[in-house]
Amino acid sequence: MGKIHVLSETVANQIAAGEVVERPASVVKEMLENSLDAGATRIKISIEAGGKKLIQITDNGCGMVRDDAMLAFERHATSKIKNAEDLLSVATLGFRGEALPSIASVSRLRLETRAPEEPTGTVIEINGGKIARVEEAGLPLGTSITVRDLFFNTPARKKFLKAESTELSHIASLVTHYALAHPDKHFELHSATNAMLVAPPVAGQSERVYQVFGKETLDQLIPVAARQALERVGLPQPPPWRRKEEDQDGEGNTSREPGEMRVHGFVSKPEIQKLNRNSIFVFVNGRLIRDRLVQHAISEAYRNIIPPTVFPVVLLFLELPAAEVDVNVHPSKTEVRFRQQSVMHDFVRDSVRAALMKARPVPQFVAEIRAHATASQALTPGALSGGADWHPSDDGLSATEPLRPAADGSFALHAPLQPPASSRLQFEGGIAVEANAAIPVARGLESAPLAPDFAPTLARHEFDAVPDHGCSPALDVNEEEPTLSALGTLKPMGQIRNSFILAVNEDGLWIVDQHVAHERVLFERILKQRSAMKVECQQLLMPIVLELSPAQQAVFQEISDELARNGFEAEPFGARSVAVKVAPAGVEAAAVEHMLHELLDQFSIEEQSLNLEKIRTRIAASIACHAAIKVNMPLEQNKMEWLLAELAKTDHPMSCPHGRPVVLRYSVKDIQKAFKRI
Ligand code: ADP
Ligand code: MG
Repeated sequence: MGKIHVLSETVANQIAAGEVVERPASVVKEMLENSLDAGATRIKISIEAGGKKLIQITDNGCGMVRDDAMLAFERHATSKIKNAEDLLSVATLGFRGEALPSIASVSRLRLETRAPEEPTGTVIEINGGKIARVEEAGLPLGTSITVRDLFFNTPARKKFLKAESTELSHIASLVTHYALAHPDKHFELHSATNAMLVAPPVAGQSERVYQVFGKETLDQLIPVAARQALERVGLPQPPPWRRKEEDQDGEGNTSREPGEMRVHGFVSKPEIQKLNRNSIFVFVNGRLIRDRLVQHAISEAYRNIIPPTVFPVVLLFLELPAAEVDVNVHPSKTEVRFRQQSVMHDFVRDSVRAALMKARPVPQFVAEIRAHATASQALTPGALSGGADWHPSDDGLSATEPLRPAADGSFALHAPLQPPASSRLQFEGGIAVEANAAIPVARGLESAPLAPDFAPTLARHEFDAVPDHGCSPALDVNEEEPTLSALGTLKPMGQIRNSFILAVNEDGLWIVDQHVAHERVLFERILKQRSAMKVECQQLLMPIVLELSPAQQAVFQEISDELARNGFEAEPFGARSVAVKVAPAGVEAAAVEHMLHELLDQFSIEEQSLNLEKIRTRIAASIACHAAIKVNMPLEQNKMEWLLAELAKTDHPMSCPHGRPVVLRYSVKDIQKAFKRI
């Protein structure tokens, strides 16, 4: 007997589901697109347990007649295209006819629908791909689909789901952006506990941005709008076999207008910088996609305006004739192929660049942004495990992204490699300065100290650690290694550019980064105070009202207890805001808002479930970062002495909570060598 057999439909659907239904957010995306295709003007989504328990979407679209409702669950059953030819110009969001059967095969699904043609509606229940019930019922016009217990029959897949708050924030972000794409429609998103988004129809996209994100976000955005006729760019004609007869005149030229491409939307001002691409949303003909070409065009537009390690907030809607884009590239329809790739690329780049130039970015900003961005990006654990072979891991997406292809699960399993025993910073004159010498340091956020023989980690992109090829002087075994107590003997001499403290002792010349040194001091202090439940806090003169995006709301709910224990007192204020009344001591009122937004954004991209330890250390690191002495700040002698003394008292004085070095040492031996005395 042969070995090959045809898979049962249920199994085939489950396999297809793997392509279409990756996580609760993909179910929401498919169903949302179906509702939009059905012409709905009101769409309401309810979520429980991050979508793992329940996803319900109700629309007032065209509904389905009974026969169609049954057919909708057959594989490749679609009302949207008829033949292969139609694939060349898909005008709807869906067309594969795979979503409903795939979702139904991995959940308990209930469909309620009524089309205007029929007096009664249809109810269908399907459990794990098997039809359990079909009946008539009196129903309002439109469709309601309830998906319960997603992946209940595919435990392997269920295991890969992330924390509920992570899934919920993905859903929130998705719905938010579809709402932005369709300002004329009514969108609602509810979680079990609150209304995360209620957006009645508004006049246009700016109004929607205002409605969903608030005034502040709108103020940070620059509108983009441009159009370009396709003929102007010399679009090649389609091959003869694709030209329809009626399109051609006597000489075989196409007579139909080639149409135009249009782009509109918003891009952020240069002072806004995000740690990853998660705030870049690109829609092509109404479809939310991820496209490297467009991403690249956006980066090009921002070149030299923001540092290459940070990302803008982008919301772009591209519209072009359906025949210009191939949407049938990927099962989940998140990728497209443009027929005129480079034309498209340059169009997006030039349009965004022109909008930015019109808004006149101030170039001086760049330096400050950089200092800030690197500090906060390193908060993620990925950046802490620096060293020579540093792999950005999935849970540390952050600014490390541009080094690697898009978030790729395969990075997630890389154990952080041990850093080289001695990282040397090669200075231009060929003098090697040891970062943190051979003093034991912590690897970063983990509170457990490392074994003493590990040298500090260096975030590779910041300090290009050059491997020792034997050119730099070998470590003299006789030379006494500086110890922690050596720090206590440091005598500050002054500052370089009001940012780095120069200090000397018997061991040599030391350079201390004043910001990260203070950050380390504060970080340890906050963690200690936190475990003793004695965090110092300050009453704010005026409560600070934070507008939270739906995704940030989801995270806020998850971490609000821990925030409270760290000295934040915040309470809901209106539908999507919180009012912060008390903040940790040392963080200036002006920085509180920025800090909280940054924290919430970090957690919302978290791909692994959050544990308390992680939440705790990140909050502490973030408070420390914002409360610490800044660079470019003159310090009096006694302040420098105080800082060095405090640093000497810390458990891990040699690296900041982000894993960056705090101290560089230029040993006596290095000095002698450089002067050719030895
Ligand atoms: P596709 O969207 O690719 O056609 P789906 O599996 O998502 O495939 O849906 C199958 C069919 O079910 C659709 O073509 C459409 O006719 C119908 N359908 C799905 N959702 C809705 C809805 N909310 N309202 C009306 N019809 C729907
Ligand atoms: Mg669909």
